Amino acid sequence: MSGRILIIDTVATNRIVLKVKMLSAQFSVDACSSRIEAEAIIAANRPDLILINLSDPVESHHEFCRGLKADYATSGIAIIAVGVADTAKARFAALDAGADDVLPRPMHDTLLLARIRSLLRARGAGQELALRDGTSRALGFEEQQVAFKAATHVALVTPEETSNVMLADMLRTGLGPSIRHLSQKAALKAVGERPQPDLFVVDCTHIGAYQNDLFRLVSDLRSRNETRQSTQLIMVPPGEQDIAAMFLDLGADDIVIGAVSEGELTLRAKALIRQKQRQDRLRDRVRNGLQAAVTDPLTGLYNRRYVAAHLARMAEQSRKAGRELAIMMLDLDHFKAINDRHGHAAGDQVLVQVADRLRENLRAIDLVARVGGEEFLIAMPRTTAMQAHAAADRLRRIVNERRFDLGEVGPKLRVTTSVGVTTTGRVQTTEFDFDRMCERADAALYAAKSAGRNQVAMSRSAA
Ligand code: GH3
Ligand code: MG
Ligand code: MG
Repeated sequence: MSGRILIIDTVATNRIVLKVKMLSAQFSVDACSSRIEAEAIIAANRPDLILINLSDPVESHHEFCRGLKADYATSGIAIIAVGVADTAKARFAALDAGADDVLPRPMHDTLLLARIRSLLRARGAGQELALRDGTSRALGFEEQQVAFKAATHVALVTPEETSNVMLADMLRTGLGPSIRHLSQKAALKAVGERPQPDLFVVDCTHIGAYQNDLFRLVSDLRSRNETRQSTQLIMVPPGEQDIAAMFLDLGADDIVIGAVSEGELTLRAKALIRQKQRQDRLRDRVRNGLQAAVTDPLTGLYNRRYVAAHLARMAEQSRKAGRELAIMMLDLDHFKAINDRHGHAAGDQVLVQVADRLRENLRAIDLVARVGGEEFLIAMPRTTAMQAHAAADRLRRIVNERRFDLGEVGPKLRVTTSVGVTTTGRVQTTEFDFDRMCERADAALYAAKSAGRNQVAMSRSAA
């Protein structure tokens, strides 16, 4: 998983040790010793996650963390506090200041990496939604806001039928009376019942004999359609850092290892509930506001109107990250002949199936749209010209290799496609110009058609 990490620690050896660990885990890393330097780095090169030594002898960083979380522009940066004394009071202070987690020294490497992966994963999903929501508002759908549902649903899941009374009491004191108890079996069965919990608190404090069942529970809750948007907080016994790391990799959002104060438990639970409700709200808004006006009714893909608005935002993100955005124009070859020979309904069916094949073969962060009769635009962030060429050729083969089964409306057909590719370049010096990018991709497409069709061509500036 890639991501940009900023290490803040006054002690040079701490910085170096952490930096080496992060680099060998394939992250991009900046490191600095003071708040002033950190602010400059964040402004110039925004990190996805900060590892900050909160027991710094020179400056107190709690206010700094609080400031980052309060500022809209930086509130999405995940923060892990390191070097904190392993006491309830110190942990609470760090979480209260906005840290997403606290890892005391000595640091457990597997757990640290699992924690980073889990925070980056959550952050990625949130960002994608926020980006799409921003586009929907740019298109004028602001009034479509869905009322915020304040009621929270929390389920306490235990391995057996009996509840964990102490844990249930702590949760009720912090979060109010609406805590449901579910046995691990019931939690999986309850799937399908509505409403689903905003938060599952899974009691794994006596994990011993139940280990495999509980691992499965966490990954099942994460993968099932009904519960995958719910957040999960897992309680594990003291000293079980490896088990904690395993839970995080299986999809848990947060972990408590060993004894916990009611204050800390409430803080962690509330943060997860807030995260879940914010994402629900965004998701509803995107779904309701955007869908009808910006999708193509035949294929369900986005239409040109959406692309024009969304691409500018994708380009801006790529520019900030110093990464390339690739754009391809894909046009079916001799499509008119399909209509002429087999009828319009057969042509429609081909378009629907091409759309499916494209959608299934792109990443979640890519954008695919139908921008003309038999013309599709694909935008791929963080993609170099070389990678884009390879991806375009893969899509070309995916259309070409397997015949289209048109069922009742026509015979099995082989369809080929030509693709023109361009990229923004790593350094975008001028403002993103949608029409110009399309012209460049179109020119490359034209070259692919002239050269005999069923092939990929790069625009000259991207080659
Ligand atoms: P080329 O290889 O040069 O791209 O040839 P082509 O025949 O694919 O290109 P041309 O632009 O000449 O024809 C595109 C055809 O696509 C013409 C139009 O009737 C058809 N078309 C456009 N929209 C739809 C649609 O929604 N459904 C169907 N069935 N056909 C469509
Ligand atoms: Mg065509
Ligand atoms: Mg065409």
